[in-house]
Amino acid sequence: MQSHLEERSLSRRDFLKLGGAGLAGSALLGTGGRARAAASRSGQGSPSGSGGPSINRQEWGEVDDQTVYLYTLSNGRRMTVEITNYGGIVRSILVPDRAGRVENVALGFPTLADYVENSTGPAEGGSGSTYFGATIGRYANRIANGKFTLDGRTYDLPKNNAPNTLHGGPDAFNTRVWDATTEKQQDFVALKLAYTDPDGYNGFPGTVETEVTYGLTNDNELRIDYRATTDEPTVINLTNHTYFNLAGEGSGDIHDQLLKINADAYTPTDDTLIPTGEISPVAGTPFDFRTMKPIGRDIRDDDEQLVLAHGYDHNFVLDGSGMRLVSVAEDPQSGRVLLTYTDQPGVQFYTGNFLVGDLVGTGGDTYRQSDGFTLETQHFPDSPNQPDFPSTVLKPGEEFTSTTIYGFTTAGSSDLQTAQTTDMPETGGANLGPLLGGTALLAAGGTLALRNRMKRADG
Ligand code: BGC
Repeated sequence: MQSHLEERSLSRRDFLKLGGAGLAGSALLGTGGRARAAASRSGQGSPSGSGGPSINRQEWGEVDDQTVYLYTLSNGRRMTVEITNYGGIVRSILVPDRAGRVENVALGFPTLADYVENSTGPAEGGSGSTYFGATIGRYANRIANGKFTLDGRTYDLPKNNAPNTLHGGPDAFNTRVWDATTEKQQDFVALKLAYTDPDGYNGFPGTVETEVTYGLTNDNELRIDYRATTDEPTVINLTNHTYFNLAGEGSGDIHDQLLKINADAYTPTDDTLIPTGEISPVAGTPFDFRTMKPIGRDIRDDDEQLVLAHGYDHNFVLDGSGMRLVSVAEDPQSGRVLLTYTDQPGVQFYTGNFLVGDLVGTGGDTYRQSDGFTLETQHFPDSPNQPDFPSTVLKPGEEFTSTTIYGFTTAGSSDLQTAQTTDMPETGGANLGPLLGGTALLAAGGTLALRNRMKRADG
């Protein structure tokens, strides 16, 4: 199938200016914290402007005497993704809008030192650890009171988000230097990251071997495949923490961007953001995203749940099961559309409520509340303490696997018309009619086609 985002009339100069090379260059300015920036660029970071996909790496600095690299994945269709093996962090995602203008739609930091400082020692009274773009593990989101019981034994975890444990505890997956290997095929490039989480680290039982593979396809999809095994029973919940702003990072708030989430229910929380255990219908509440609506439409409602979380910071109970389209987001101004697919049961929709304007982002602008939103595909928060939630237990001999795809397209693109006659999305039997609008439905066809191609390439 042809890409639905054909090359347009962006000049070569603009392309180079907006591409990964520009970002990577600026990333080397400024150091601090435990990280040391690389003295010079390898010169390999430029995206390929045409032809097939490419993946390049450059030294980005050092953390704890380990070399950290910044990888630039490019598909020659003007989508470029930068990922570092520090924390498995997606640093930037450059995608064109309907007029071909490329912007970085992921919030991030200019330097490695900024990531290290924000992850390991954020300033008091500021935004705290933001987890921009990071790989989150061993347990994404919160575990109540830093405690859970498994097979009759109680485990105590450090409480890094009092009174709870958040995102695996302090210095978790998002701060590790991962081993990296790259792969290049005709239709996609991939970066495979591996990390072994030692038995007892942050209080969790079992040595967990984890692999996270980022693939960039020729159809402008960022595909993330997770795998994990353990040598003792443990709990696992892996996600990616990219904050999206489809108008471009640093361009202001996301209130006018439209969102649809295919979820009839969500999990309300207490005032420490731990689920109460209820599965509540979204109908008649500000949490009803079953039809496309501006993110900001109901965000200021006098709703107890919104007040507790200072906005949206909730797990949505996704309809259906298996790999399926779960969300569509669109920036009406630029026409950029984000299609999210996952095989996970939930998604944490978070509106950057705790960003308070003290952090300077990749493009030099400060980030304030609601300047980005996350769609963290996941198992439900605090599942180890919630017997009625889907289990997150992983046992020796089993393999945890999951896949999430963030696919980018544009609304109203004429290229989408060609996709209409090709594959339809895999629905797992669910009726996606209410979820998908016209253009998104067309784009989804392309997304599935590519996913199948990658599956085949995976063997
Ligand atoms: C959580 C938020 C938290 C944020 C940190 C999200 O996944 O749900 O409560 O503040 O991560 O950046």
